Amino acid sequence: MAIKVLPVVGRPTNLPGPPRKIAIEEHFSYPLLGPPNIGDSSSGVFMQEGFNPEYSRAMNARMEDLRGSRIEEMDEAGIDISVISQTIGGVEGIPDAARAIEMAQRINDFVAGEVAESRGRLAGFATLPMQDVGAAAKELHRAVNDLGLCAVMLNGYSNLGSQKLYLGDARFEPFWEELEGLQVALYLHPRIPSLAVEQSDFFGHEELTGAVWGFAPETATHVLRMVYGGVFDRHPGVNLIIGHMGETLPFFAWRVQRAFEYDPRSYRTEKRLQDYLSDNIWVTTSGNFFDQALITAVLTVGADHILFASDYPYEMATDAARWIERAPISESDRRKICYSNAAGLLRLPR
Ligand code: ZN
Repeated sequence: MAIKVLPVVGRPTNLPGPPRKIAIEEHFSYPLLGPPNIGDSSSGVFMQEGFNPEYSRAMNARMEDLRGSRIEEMDEAGIDISVISQTIGGVEGIPDAARAIEMAQRINDFVAGEVAESRGRLAGFATLPMQDVGAAAKELHRAVNDLGLCAVMLNGYSNLGSQKLYLGDARFEPFWEELEGLQVALYLHPRIPSLAVEQSDFFGHEELTGAVWGFAPETATHVLRMVYGGVFDRHPGVNLIIGHMGETLPFFAWRVQRAFEYDPRSYRTEKRLQDYLSDNIWVTTSGNFFDQALITAVLTVGADHILFASDYPYEMATDAARWIERAPISESDRRKICYSNAAGLLRLPR
């Protein structure tokens, strides 16, 4: 027998629906780069090996499709705009600079074409060949001004020959100047840690190298190299986005800063890590749909610096959406996180 429900006669007739959303860590893989992998010439580790085959098959099909099931899942999740980006295994892992430049140009042309075809449902991150900083700055200018891409995504460090290039290195000054001048945000996405597994703490536990755990310390370390390398002091207008609710940094910020102040070798920064997290760094919800982590991010970087993302196709956009719609935050914070923060930062339609 059906239960009798109490009448709610005073309920407003105009109840709000789910919040509109912009999702900003939504990947594809450019066909010529082949299936996604996070290998590089030194580690030889491929992320595909860490996935079970059933997941890999389903995920690869989702990765390739930019017009059918992706848009259907966006509709189901209430996502108005997905900002798409080349997944890991991108140009960062190409050790030859000329080849990296050529591939970045092709990928950016491809993204611009898909965005144009999407009738407003897709926007795009630029890919850059950081192996040649002059070419990267030039391609950044072209991608933003000529192709209309709205920001940059880099998948971790870049290989150049046998070198590994991190963004805190002095060689990247021309890139920061161009980025700051254009007022375009940079999303630093994870990549597998740079040591070969046999030389790392992951030896014997290769399952820990990727999204399980290795991505977070790799990316957090990369961000700290930038912070303590003075990038944000020299370029206070730079906006850096990091995923997965901040790659552990919101939780660890106080301890990192405290220990840094005890170390006599360290570069002196103008501000504390907590301040750079509030002023220059934005975090997204990608692949970390966890209330407790969200609350920590709200308390550390502030709701104005949190952006909705799912990490499609590795995650279900619908899971991300259903979670943020019920997360224990104010309605005004929810609207900012779901839509207006990204619209402002990436200059997307309001
Ligand atoms: Zn991702």
